[in-house]
Amino acid sequence: MRTIGHFIDGVETTGSSTEFQDVFNPATGEVQARVALATKADLDAAVASASAAQPAWAATNPQRRARVFFNYVALLNQHMDELAELLSAEHGKTFDDAKGDVLRGLEVAEFVAGAPHLLKGAYTEGAGPGIDMYSMRQPVGIGAGITPFNFPAMIPLWMLSPAIAAGNAFILKPSERDPSVPVRLAQLAIEAGLPKGVLNVVQGGKATVDGILEHEAIAAVSFVGSTPIARYVYATAAANGKRVQAFGGAKNHMIIMPDADMEKAADALMGSGYGAAGERCMAVSVAVPVGDATADKIIAALRPRIDALKVGPATDRASEMGPLITAAAKSRVLGLVDKGVEQGATLVVDGRDFSLQGYEGGFFVGPCLFDHVTTDMDIYKEEIFGPVLSVVRAKNYEEALELPSKNPYGNGVAIFTRDGDAARDFAARVNVGMVGVNVPVPVPVAYHSFGGWKASSFGDLNQYGTDSMQFWTKVKTVTTRWPSGIKDGAEFQFPTMK
Ligand code: NAD
Repeated sequence: MRTIGHFIDGVETTGSSTEFQDVFNPATGEVQARVALATKADLDAAVASASAAQPAWAATNPQRRARVFFNYVALLNQHMDELAELLSAEHGKTFDDAKGDVLRGLEVAEFVAGAPHLLKGAYTEGAGPGIDMYSMRQPVGIGAGITPFNFPAMIPLWMLSPAIAAGNAFILKPSERDPSVPVRLAQLAIEAGLPKGVLNVVQGGKATVDGILEHEAIAAVSFVGSTPIARYVYATAAANGKRVQAFGGAKNHMIIMPDADMEKAADALMGSGYGAAGERCMAVSVAVPVGDATADKIIAALRPRIDALKVGPATDRASEMGPLITAAAKSRVLGLVDKGVEQGATLVVDGRDFSLQGYEGGFFVGPCLFDHVTTDMDIYKEEIFGPVLSVVRAKNYEEALELPSKNPYGNGVAIFTRDGDAARDFAARVNVGMVGVNVPVPVPVAYHSFGGWKASSFGDLNQYGTDSMQFWTKVKTVTTRWPSGIKDGAEFQFPTMK
């Protein structure tokens, strides 16, 4: 059986690992590989490699560093199909969706090719008598990234690209559930001209994460995953004196106003609710039609679409939705659907018994649609992370606005309407970080930035965009005065501008 190793000092290796974890093919349920779980010695080896490589990388002028990213983007494009196939095979998402995963990561690698401009400091001439002042951005040193299973290419690329372009060495700890693509991303980075040691990958679970959070040599940690672990990583890394940003789970609502184009709104709900089997932090899991007439119309538009949804393995290029990541994820989602029924929601479409000939062992759950969901139900309160769409009927616009605003999560939200006034008011007032107007998955482009509010994000800087350059660098400010500006004699008062 294939063993997936770490990537340390430019080579794939199982290092000193003695423990391994199964990696499944989610479409068949079979074990297809095993991944090495890092020991403390493996992490130390990655840190040693990073420490050795980082000073020379930081001293490489930013334009040369950026050139590596030009090459990297070209290589990622060249290997797009290979990466997408590898990704689908371990994650289960469809081939086209997997390409999107790579592409949205690649766009951040493209963005950081502009790092020389993004890293420029500021200069003030004559800040005082004979005094000039300038600031510069210096790398934090060694950064680490801990990433979730649901975007095994995109999120590692969101982190490693700005961290490395800013002159840091980077240690990636990907999800142990789909660990192959991150290793391939590291190999391609070396092929693009990145010196070995600037990017290392250590595989593992909680023990490896704890090793990172405790490691004295690691200066900054970026985390993406579920909210309980995000809270833990944020608190632990901060307590250990590290710079940290931690992004968590979500419960994204889509408001459907009575004037919306129902066909377009239904299409949007299909893609955002059932795309990637609902395993997206920007998935819409709650539809909020305003008024009963709107609710009835949207459900009528959804039903035939759900019936026609093609669920299958990624190897079938016609599949529109794949399986869940693990058997545990499947039973958790099924358990939540059972709870929804017990707690009184109307299960309009029941995907619990879905089965596919030849793939009976796969972790498939068919699309489920609930109506008359209320905010006290578990299917509303929990992030389901499966192909389950809940309809919560709102009486009016204010009630609809209140639902996402009061929800503990605040990642994404959307409104579907033809009314510009309503859309503008919604965007201004909703208490959520990323808003779509007639856009169901409002993931900002690479030169803006990605981050939710409330329990979806801990820390104050977002992923990618100029925020990422700030996160991965420290500001140093230099005040200069040359002899002609210095008066004779000591001055004992605190320096002020008179
Ligand atoms: P997860 O929290 O289980 O795992 C994320 C990472 O943390 C993995 O690398 C994992 O190995 C590690 N980890 C798991 N348990 C740990 C523990 N007890 N202590 C320390 N580390 C631990 O998340 P997941 O299931 O891989 O990913 C899905 C979650 O990620 C969803 O909640 C989703 O909403 C969220 N997500 C958020 C964003 C965002 O940007 N806000 C993006 C993608 C996914």
